[in-house]
Amino acid sequence: MTTDDVLTWICQYCGEENELWVDLTIEDKQDFIEDCETCCRPNRLIIPQQKEEGIPFVESRLTDE
Ligand SMILES: [Zn+2]
Repeated sequence: MTTDDVLTWICQYCGEENELWVDLTIEDKQDFIEDCETCCRPNRLIIPQQKEEGIPFVESRLTDE
């Protein structure tokens, strides 16, 4: 069983893809700020609560909305 995975998210400011290592052993919803590697602007990343057979994904949002 894998305990972590690389997910990609799209920067809401410049549209570039970023990679993020996600700890899949954390079942609760994760909500944090991560800077874009390309434009260095902070994106708010939300990883919904992990479901047993669901494919984990990252939702990115503007931090100033
Ligand atoms: Zn960016």
